[in-house]
Amino acid sequence: MSLPESTLRLYYDDATLARFSATVTAVANDGRVVYLDRTALYPTSGGQPHDLGTLADVPIVDVVDEEAHVAHHLTEPLGLPVGAMVVGQVDMTRRVDHMQQHTAQHLLSALLTDEYGWPTVSVHFGDDYSTVDVACADGIDQDTLAHIEQRANALALGNHAVTVSYEDAATATGLRKASDRDGTLRIVTIEGLDRSACGGTHVAGTGEIGAILLRRAERTRGNTRIEFLAGYRAVRRARLDADLLARAARPLSAAPADLPVLVEQQQLRLTELERERKRLTSELAAYEAQSLWDRAPLVNDVRRIRHDTTGAVKDADPLVQQLLARGACVVLVTNMQSGGVLLAASPESGLDAGQTLRSALQSAGGRGGGSPRVAQGAVASPSALPALIAALGF
Ligand SMILES: [Zn+2]
Repeated sequence: MSLPESTLRLYYDDATLARFSATVTAVANDGRVVYLDRTALYPTSGGQPHDLGTLADVPIVDVVDEEAHVAHHLTEPLGLPVGAMVVGQVDMTRRVDHMQQHTAQHLLSALLTDEYGWPTVSVHFGDDYSTVDVACADGIDQDTLAHIEQRANALALGNHAVTVSYEDAATATGLRKASDRDGTLRIVTIEGLDRSACGGTHVAGTGEIGAILLRRAERTRGNTRIEFLAGYRAVRRARLDADLLARAARPLSAAPADLPVLVEQQQLRLTELERERKRLTSELAAYEAQSLWDRAPLVNDVRRIRHDTTGAVKDADPLVQQLLARGACVVLVTNMQSGGVLLAASPESGLDAGQTLRSALQSAGGRGGGSPRVAQGAVASPSALPALIAALGF
């Protein structure tokens, strides 16, 4: 495959060009990878994700920057030979979204450096939100974040022109960050705010960024990372947040604005109720224990106490502890539906609950074990439980 010079990048001079015609200069991978003499499709580069769209109505899955050339990866073979003309279409919803996030990042980086003294360390454009890491070691509190957000939106509304120029690296001045490239630089200027060397796609005026939403800031490796969304994305996020708040407020029959106080009140109430529940459970266990103790038969001065439960046998632990504290006893807790079994023995009983239950379960085809005081397990089938109960002498 030999490719002529390089792909002419139409998006450099017109980020709004949605439809274009071009000539196929080479194909690879059975026609699934296509090279053109010119393209309006942006390849992943400079942190900005690639465009989507179609070539001759065949969907594009990826656009790759191969330095001199742009490779268009398609879902299926193009079916056209080298030399053929094709029409390319850019998915402009996705493109405009990228233009809004990218230009918002230029504006935020300029604002954070010039007004707060925090130069940008790195940026990331994500599917849900984007981030800008700034050299701010102490973190940014919510009030400051809200202030930055206000300033960013005021600058966006100022509708500063965003223009592209080509200047020689040796003579270009006033750049936000010195470029390490030689020769001609593509410089993106936000009138009165910023001059940066950049190959990405941007809106024509900051007003087109739309709303800028700063969601949160967190410290990360000596810097601070700010999460931001711009344009339609910010509006969609705000809509989602409003819906989430409305959903959270519905079961409380409250207005979203009352949620913080209500949720705190509910949390306190829950803690209070849980404390009360624990107290009542332990009180109930004491009554139940007394009743079981009084009714239990004495065998060789040891009470043999049988208790059946419909819950998990381990939940009978408060009751079991109450009984063990009363004196010489062996306690058997069963669940006839699940086949669960718990055996407990007080020190005065002379019985090792763990050993006794383990060997009884082995003969009954079950599993379990525990300490000399409390052991638990289950039979393989609940129908084996009566035989196990009899084997344990209850
Ligand atoms: Zn840029």
